[in-house]
Amino acid sequence: MSILIENISKRFGSFQALDRVNLEIKNGSLVGLLGPSGSGKSTLLRVLAGLEKPDSGRIWLEGQDATQMKLQDREIGFVFQNYALFPHLTVSENVAFGLEIQKIDSLLKKKRVNELLKLMQLEKFGDSYPNQLSGGQRQRVALARALAMEPKVLLLDEPFAALDAKIRKQLRSWLRELHHKISVTTVFVTHDYSEAMELAQEIVLLENGKIIQIGSAQELSDHPTNTFVTNFLGLK
Ligand code: ADP
Ligand code: MG
Repeated sequence: MSILIENISKRFGSFQALDRVNLEIKNGSLVGLLGPSGSGKSTLLRVLAGLEKPDSGRIWLEGQDATQMKLQDREIGFVFQNYALFPHLTVSENVAFGLEIQKIDSLLKKKRVNELLKLMQLEKFGDSYPNQLSGGQRQRVALARALAMEPKVLLLDEPFAALDAKIRKQLRSWLRELHHKISVTTVFVTHDYSEAMELAQEIVLLENGKIIQIGSAQELSDHPTNTFVTNFLGLK
């Protein structure tokens, strides 16, 4: 699904979290929102998901005004930094959770869950409980659960931040492969420059609620627009 973010602003009290943000995200792309802590990345993602109402501006999803849509009609999957899996449910049950509220035939449900477990290389763990899994495996379950709803957009807020460096690296390459396979429009948040450089087809750099620069990793490092970009990317 294509996304058009038009002049979005959001304040919390006197704090301007987002300041007239404009951004176009092409269908099927993999976009990284990069910026220091407090720059408005999560707020932008939450506005996109419909979890936060902007003070002004509009979001268009595939040409439709999302501000008029119900949350579930946005068809957006969301994964947060701290995977909130249900500890008392098995991996399969966690993945199927969102499907329970949809009226889907139980056989079809089972099939979809098994396909997702396979896609996530979790097929051996369907009957395991979250506390029997590693952090990286748990985060893959969280992704499977988000994908079970067949979202048209996947939003990931620092999905690997809580994991150690080695697992983070594995998950990055794995997310790249996944995106290659299913090419769902994906927007992920990170404050880690190397993560954005490695994963994103397009990087959106935020500072103080404003977009400072948009471009590929190459474009950003070749032509930083100002000293903030130069410093943040560690270019000299
Ligand atoms: P980032 O994800 O880039 O670290 P956020 O979008 O989470 O930044 O937040 C930007 C700033 O907006 C934060 O520093 C915080 O002070 C403020 N903020 C975010 N959410 C809220 C909220 N619900 N209420 C009050 N202030 C908030
Ligand atoms: Mg954040």
